[in-house]
Amino acid sequence: MTSFPQQLLDGYKTFSTQRLPAEQTRYRELSVRGQSPETMVIGCCDSRVSPEVIFDAGPGELFVMRNIANLVPVYQPDANAHGVSAALEFAVTVLHVKHIVVLGHAQCGGIRAFVDKAAPLTPGDFIGKWMSMFVKPGEKVEQRDNETIQEFVVRIEKAAVFRSLENLMTFPFVRSAVERGEMALHGAYFGVALGRLFVLDQEKKEFIRADASS
Ligand SMILES: [Zn+2]
Repeated sequence: MTSFPQQLLDGYKTFSTQRLPAEQTRYRELSVRGQSPETMVIGCCDSRVSPEVIFDAGPGELFVMRNIANLVPVYQPDANAHGVSAALEFAVTVLHVKHIVVLGHAQCGGIRAFVDKAAPLTPGDFIGKWMSMFVKPGEKVEQRDNETIQEFVVRIEKAAVFRSLENLMTFPFVRSAVERGEMALHGAYFGVALGRLFVLDQEKKEFIRADASS
């Protein structure tokens, strides 16, 4: 049995002596009346892209679902267990979040594996199967003639956000909340190296750099 990671214990010490005293009241309130975050973020597992860090969120502010390549599957009410769908169901029907943000990012390993058609890492090929939901039946996702591999990867990283937004609307409870005007869907893309956030303009279908000064 190895010991609990020292880095985490050190981090907890910093949290409990610095951040916790400032937020103790908030934690107590949240423990009594429960959470009521207004925003759900669907992001990637990537350790560089933490929604709470990027959006400077405190306890109780963000309901976060992270998975490989920030993907939302299509609505599939079958006999299988669906983690993303369970989180969505709770966020929308119980928490009544007002916003769902799909947060894509640069240098996404899941997207890279998909683009490179990487060999399975284990016999289960869980990543391969997970990423395959990205492609619709009959659809071809290939590098264009005039496109570098880097441009191709970025295009697919952004396409993953579009696909997830599209798939979100296949969930009846998401669609009805959006159509009633009670909830809005958003896309964003985080550029890891420079820490830049780009927000999706859904009409122009373009990611626009968020102004850090306002
Ligand atoms: Zn990723």
